[in-house]
Amino acid sequence: MSTIRFKAIESLINRGYEPVGPAIEKISDYYGKHVFGEQAIQEYLSREAYEKVKAAIVHGVQIERDIADQVASSMKAWAMNLGATHFTHWFQPLNGATAEKHDAFFEPLSDGRAIESFSGSNLIQQEPDASSFPSGGIRNTFEARGYTAWDPSSPAFIIGGTLCIPTIFVSYTGEALDFKTPLLKALHALDNAAVAVCQYFDKNVTKVTATLGWEQEYFLIDEALYHARPDLSLTGRTLFGHSPAKGQQLEDHYFGSIPERVNAYMRDFEMESLKLGIPIRTRHNEVAPNQFECAPIFEEANLAVDHNQLLMDVMSKVARRHRFRVLFHEKPFAGINGSGKHNNWSMSTNTGKNLLSPGKTPKNNLQFLTFFINTIKALHTHADLMRAAIASAGNDHRLGANEAPPAIISAFIGSQLTAVLDELERKVKPGGKMTPDEKTDLKLNIGKIPQILLDNTDRNRTSPFAFTGNKFEFRAVGSSANCAQAMIVINTIVAQQLREFKSEVDQLMGKKKLDKDEAIFQVLKRYITESKAIRFEGNGYGDEWVKEAKKRGLNNFAKTPEALDVFVRKDALKLFEENEVLTHREMEARYEIQLEMYTKKIQIESRVMGDLAANHIVPTALKYQSELINNVKGLKEIFSAAEFKKAAGAQLALISEISERVNIILASVNDMIEARKAANKLSDARKQADAYCYKVQPFFETIRYNVDKLELLVDDEIWCLPKYREMLFIN
Ligand code: ADP
Ligand code: MG
Repeated sequence: MSTIRFKAIESLINRGYEPVGPAIEKISDYYGKHVFGEQAIQEYLSREAYEKVKAAIVHGVQIERDIADQVASSMKAWAMNLGATHFTHWFQPLNGATAEKHDAFFEPLSDGRAIESFSGSNLIQQEPDASSFPSGGIRNTFEARGYTAWDPSSPAFIIGGTLCIPTIFVSYTGEALDFKTPLLKALHALDNAAVAVCQYFDKNVTKVTATLGWEQEYFLIDEALYHARPDLSLTGRTLFGHSPAKGQQLEDHYFGSIPERVNAYMRDFEMESLKLGIPIRTRHNEVAPNQFECAPIFEEANLAVDHNQLLMDVMSKVARRHRFRVLFHEKPFAGINGSGKHNNWSMSTNTGKNLLSPGKTPKNNLQFLTFFINTIKALHTHADLMRAAIASAGNDHRLGANEAPPAIISAFIGSQLTAVLDELERKVKPGGKMTPDEKTDLKLNIGKIPQILLDNTDRNRTSPFAFTGNKFEFRAVGSSANCAQAMIVINTIVAQQLREFKSEVDQLMGKKKLDKDEAIFQVLKRYITESKAIRFEGNGYGDEWVKEAKKRGLNNFAKTPEALDVFVRKDALKLFEENEVLTHREMEARYEIQLEMYTKKIQIESRVMGDLAANHIVPTALKYQSELINNVKGLKEIFSAAEFKKAAGAQLALISEISERVNIILASVNDMIEARKAANKLSDARKQADAYCYKVQPFFETIRYNVDKLELLVDDEIWCLPKYREMLFIN
């Protein structure tokens, strides 16, 4: 075995780890302990400041300077009590990570002493040097400044002695350079539009919040093996590796118990997360070996997005303590499942009602149907945007592959709700007035929805957007993605749809003098008819669906560059501008950034692949080949010509096969390098992404295929990379 592979496996096998003992503290004892949340705020803030901060959180009211000073000083007191020495603005730039720049509270005085200081202006605004974050050309170099601004709706928290303040990140000229800014605007647009529609049903509704419950999938791999795989450590996925004899076909991992070492890790990161107020609740094995999932209780979407970003960070840090690496890549291993991040989404009112949950009365259910049907209509109109929202180099491996929802967007609602919509469509007469009997009949049926849903066991795992009883589950989101991207799109399209709905219903009530219920029925009926193409109850993984979707006129953007184009299509620009979520300039900048990110990812993969193939794999194969050649020479010496032919046949074939594969690999690597050079010369970001997608990436398959074949031919003793069976089945 090659030294590096040998050492990695040896260190893994000889590694002891602390068995998990019983938990000492109750979760409720430490939950939220490191968050400047409700409890800390009440304890540390004056009543007046508390009220003003609440108003800022609920209604977006601006916080005045003196209040900010008060908040800052109590935050500092609270944080110092917990041992914090530094503070940072914490934000989510468009490179997909989170960013922070720590400053000490400490301030030297002229007499040589020092004090701890943290003012309202420190809290409200900071100017990190923004030039190293992607801006898509929004910032010219001479105005390289961007600034971060406090988001009071997401509470501050402490990590590793630093007080972290969630902020937005914008350019000096006010354009969004992050995920949070447009997310907050999209949530605001949804709030306004949904409250207006709720007024038809309940005058007490003054606020609607989008809710998000994500489910995070991930792989774990031992640190030593990770380091012995340059592809994993540089690209987050394995570029080579033959499938092991046993993969996930027995599905025994899903039902198996969680390995002890993994369990210890889970408990550790969960405890850290819970202290940060992330309401993490479930954990389990996934289908693929070494794949796991965790999920929290759902929260208001902005907070849930922050919590997911924070969780990924915590998980990565804690993994190191356990000598693991956590892989968030969408497809770390070929041939077994990839990882996603289901986004469960709904809307809830200040009156405590989930708008996607049917209620006990027909009126409540008409409200449910209104939001339910409008969501489907929004999805139908803007399906391409939902596809664009989940586009990334990593997710391209997953979408359309056998275990993941396809790149075609559709909605699954189950047979019972399908029947309800069919009935609505059938019974509401176009344009005309319904008799009181007809109306009563319809309402009676609508009243039965909750009973139907109670025994709704319909589950369709293959749909990218499935209704699951009281929420929609957007399943096509990638495991490494920032959920904000999906949340920006879904909340904006539903906001837009609800505004259109409101204006259509108002028109029918005004011009045609229809009563409210009938006006609502009329519009919903039309939406049901118009959006039928987006509803699909069958097997989303089948080839049949690809053909069927094409007939229905649904797009199937298989690759990221073409999926991203939708962001700068006229309809998309108009939509985001009208809802005041993103301007044309911001949209174009984001489009460019995403194309660049895509190109860079494929470029890095291509470089790593070339290096590994030419400098690691091929030399190993040649070493083995020369051993074979020596052996064959020996056979020739000791055997007669006739006997030699018999004795050396298989080895001669091996020698030729190795030559053949090595030749293909080296030629492909050379051609790939040429393709890369040509791609690098292109100055247009879209053309470059295309070149990487269609000219560079296709070589990956040929190179990998031949390398993986060599893995099966070459002596296991000298193979240079840890194998799939070693990475996936030892822990
Ligand atoms: P499953 O979908 O596996 O049946 P659950 O119904 O518990 O499991 O939901 C899975 C996820 O959906 C959890 O993260 C949960 O917090 C979230 N969820 C449940 N209700 C809502 C809601 N109203 N809005 C957003 N997310 C929700
Ligand atoms: Mg789920």
